[in-house]
Amino acid sequence: MKMKRFVSIVLCALLLLPVLAGCGAKTETPAATTAPAATEAPAAPAETETEAPAPLSEDVQKIVDRGVLRVGVKNAVLGFGFQDELTGEYTGMEISLAKKIAEYLGVDVEFTAVTAATRTELLDSGDIDCVLATFTITEERKKSWDFTTPYYTDYVTVLVEDASGIKTLGDLVDKKVGVSSGSTSAKALVKAMIEAGVISGDGFDADTFDPATWTAGVSFAQYDDYPTISTALSAGEVDAFCVDKSILAVYHTDGRSYIDDKFSPQEYGIATVKGSGMSELCETLITGWLADGTIDALIAENGIA
Ligand code: GLU
Repeated sequence: MKMKRFVSIVLCALLLLPVLAGCGAKTETPAATTAPAATEAPAAPAETETEAPAPLSEDVQKIVDRGVLRVGVKNAVLGFGFQDELTGEYTGMEISLAKKIAEYLGVDVEFTAVTAATRTELLDSGDIDCVLATFTITEERKKSWDFTTPYYTDYVTVLVEDASGIKTLGDLVDKKVGVSSGSTSAKALVKAMIEAGVISGDGFDADTFDPATWTAGVSFAQYDDYPTISTALSAGEVDAFCVDKSILAVYHTDGRSYIDDKFSPQEYGIATVKGSGMSELCETLITGWLADGTIDALIAENGIA
């Protein structure tokens, strides 16, 4: 109990910092992220019984009381979120970031493997507290969830069987491409093909684009997970597999290659419930870790530079 109260006090002080400083968290290096761990830091003014600490936001307090931070992560993206099938152990940059957030809160961390199709449902239902799962920040998604400042930028590309002879965006004309449901991939590919001048783009509207109905120059088959797309590629059910390069890496086996083009920068951020205390906390921590070199070190450590 004493520990929880102490963590609460430290958090209150830290979450108030940007407010007290009268500035946004974006460019500041918050003391929060460089402060010693909650177990060591004496929060001097708030420790006295006479000063009532401001209450923690309800959602962060719940996590502290529960003693566990529940995080949605990928389980098959090397360097980001990868689970060893034998040991069950998770590794990767997003795993390390999740552990650091939990450590900061003084709680344990629990991972739930998510896909592009399940991650937002699990966040909306309250089954997980945040998502660190190669989740691209888009204007459309920002309407429904909060995202931190990006901690990594990837690109989209396309994986094919060498035997297909497909090498460029132009070679994908009239082909069927496997993508994950709920991902940015299909729209990114159509945009890139239009920009490259290999399809006309007549009828393309970024706001209403639907991979299920798009057939003008390229078409899509949507799957719930990436292993199934990889199997479909081997089986010839689809001619190509399109998603972020980081996700494709594990499926880039002998006899398969990336096409020459990579496109559509994908900025990954932590997603949280809109307007929540977690949003504010994650933003403060991520901007601090960007400023103090922690994120760069994690990128290097995980070989994803
Ligand atoms: N990063 C892309 C997205 O958020 C690809 C899907 C994924 O992360 O699984 O849509």
